[in-house]
Amino acid sequence: MTMSDKRAGVLYIVATPIGNLQDISARALEVLKAVSLIAAEDTRHSRKLLAHYGVATALQSVHEHNERDVTERLVQKLLAGVDVALVSDAGTPLISDPGFHLVRSARQAGIRVVPVPGPSALIAALSVAGLPTDRFVFEGFLPSRQVARRQRLQRLAAETATLVFYESSHRIAACLADMVECLGGSREATLARELTKTFETVLTGTLDELLAQLQADSHQQKGEFVVMLQGAAPRDPAAIDTASEQVLAVLLSELPLKQAAALAARITGLSKNVLYEQGLKLKDKR
Ligand code: SAM
Repeated sequence: MTMSDKRAGVLYIVATPIGNLQDISARALEVLKAVSLIAAEDTRHSRKLLAHYGVATALQSVHEHNERDVTERLVQKLLAGVDVALVSDAGTPLISDPGFHLVRSARQAGIRVVPVPGPSALIAALSVAGLPTDRFVFEGFLPSRQVARRQRLQRLAAETATLVFYESSHRIAACLADMVECLGGSREATLARELTKTFETVLTGTLDELLAQLQADSHQQKGEFVVMLQGAAPRDPAAIDTASEQVLAVLLSELPLKQAAALAARITGLSKNVLYEQGLKLKDKR
């Protein structure tokens, strides 16, 4: 057999439990046993899970600080025919976890990348939140610095889809306080804590209520969190903001109504008919 006849390896992206070890799939275990190498975010952490299930496959560490260096070597191994599985500490790799560079490089090298789906805190949390799930925006972790965090939240203020964030125990209270500040305290929210673990808690209420609950009980600030927020109320298509009305008024002072409404629609993105109606009102006021 020549080198070019040799089959390239397969890169499996394997989801592992987010707490409860029973949540690993039968297929995940089969793949983890069958591959020659498991690339793991933290080998000591993954060894516990693997030992629990009697998986003796060799481990190689791939974390956010060495991923770029290790990727090159792993891709070479895959090209040489070695099957590799990627796991992270918990849940689905690449979801706020390492693996992006490896998957991208493997795909660019023509290697088959196969998902072995399973737990992810994001989906588990959404499935019990009681908030709309037809559209959601996953924002991962908010910035740790307050200024940057508030800027990000302000940019999300008009988003109508359900918002989903990851957060850790030491920032959860500050994060909720900034959400109240930037998005208002009356938004419906769900806080999913320690899912599938002993202290699993799912709290629902307005942002104000959830913040008060956390501040009153420091136990509720411990563990791992998914924060989910109701999206902003959809904008009334007939509503005109002050800036758009000003654009219309300026154009109307120079142009006939029909032309002013058409131009204002192109500038503001609002409906031409709505602007025409508003133009009539402005003309009446003059
Ligand atoms: N790859 C993982 C996944 O698919 O969910 C996420 C990894 S990210 C580094 C870790 C964050 O996920 C935690 O800080 C928390 O926000 C969330 N998370 C992980 N496990 C969780 C759990 N059991 N309950 C609630 N949130 C969890």
